[in-house]
Amino acid sequence: MIKELEKIKNCTKCELCKVRKQVVLGRGKIPADIFILLEAPAKNEDIQGRAAVGKAGKHLDELINLANLSEANIFIGNSCLCWTGEGNPKPTEEQLRACWENVATLLKLVNPKFLIPMGDTALNLITGKNGITKNRGKFLSMRSELNNGYEFKILPTFHPAAVIYDPQKKNKIIEDLAYVNNILYPEDSNLEKILVDSIDLFDQMCAEIYNSGNTLSVDLETTGLSIWKDKIIGVSFSCNWNKGYYVPLIVREDEEDRNSELTSFWVLEDDAIVRKGIIDIISHKKIQKTGQNLVFDRKFCKKYFDTDIENIVFDAQLAAHLLDENSKHDLGVLALKYTDLVGIKRILEKDLTKKDIKAGKFYKADLSTISDYGAGDAIAPYRLTQDFYKEIVGTKFEDLMFGISLPLSDVIVDMESRGIKIDR
Ligand code: SF4
Repeated sequence: MIKELEKIKNCTKCELCKVRKQVVLGRGKIPADIFILLEAPAKNEDIQGRAAVGKAGKHLDELINLANLSEANIFIGNSCLCWTGEGNPKPTEEQLRACWENVATLLKLVNPKFLIPMGDTALNLITGKNGITKNRGKFLSMRSELNNGYEFKILPTFHPAAVIYDPQKKNKIIEDLAYVNNILYPEDSNLEKILVDSIDLFDQMCAEIYNSGNTLSVDLETTGLSIWKDKIIGVSFSCNWNKGYYVPLIVREDEEDRNSELTSFWVLEDDAIVRKGIIDIISHKKIQKTGQNLVFDRKFCKKYFDTDIENIVFDAQLAAHLLDENSKHDLGVLALKYTDLVGIKRILEKDLTKKDIKAGKFYKADLSTISDYGAGDAIAPYRLTQDFYKEIVGTKFEDLMFGISLPLSDVIVDMESRGIKIDR
């Protein structure tokens, strides 16, 4: 390995060898699970001989930290290994082409499981695509002419310098890095996402809900967004900061065929037990409930379980709207902003197209994926409820939340479930 690195250090394959002080190989572990690919070293990185030590590098370290990634698993390198001169101009096509052999050697030595090109230059070099904004966070393929049988996955994101000019990009980069982290090290998360696939487990879950005394977060997964034509495929519960349950009701008949008919997950007798158990929980007048946009779930409950979700004491989406009306209130955004749960919906990207995700066709995903997603979808509102509750109670928002927003949900559910007559 030393011989290969020494060879790169003495590279004179392009005119930048006359500009640089030294070749900047990168920094971090060799081998490493993650290779972060930037553009080119800046002047002080050329002086120090280390990658990403300037302003952008400091941002990168902070982002890595916020995404809970361990530096011990990361190598940070550049698409062009020499300083490009005063003003740090982008490396030219020729320089990048000349340097590719060196970058490829580093990729071989580091042998990562994930390559994260950060910014347009690295994105284009690796994938041939342009436009980091539209390509960030997507799994992409390597340009065929560069692919030497690499087995790593590629997921680009913004360059860390982008947060200097646009602080909103910070959350997006953290989300992308944390997503990679969650895929690589799911065991590091102390979350328990439990697929309730037996009556014993169902009984255990019910006992926990009845005995916990905590507010219960409820979430339904459906075949789509219309109460008139879509069905409930499963129900998620969480009454614990780190634990969520997903109870499947209907699943694809043929697990291999994403478009196959839906059928009950349970044998007839167990199906009746599970449905009754769910109805008992959601209609229980003493168990306090919370969730995210429960108006949606309540309409489905009324139609398919013939009961409402009773004793709703909070709704994370309503609270988020009161606290910051101008932000997005999508659960994924709120979870990222206020909790360390990231990429909730992105779990589905393993199995589904973005179009199916947007249309809510989660039943097309594998059961384990739906379960992971569903349990997370209950844990996140549980956590948000704890945080938002403290921010609302005792403030000017308290009356608005408990005197107007929550009661108004009842009216909206009624109007949307039964329709309204306009008396002209
Ligand atoms: S930029 Fe790359 S190819 Fe050019 S001299 Fe430096 S190491 Fe060699």
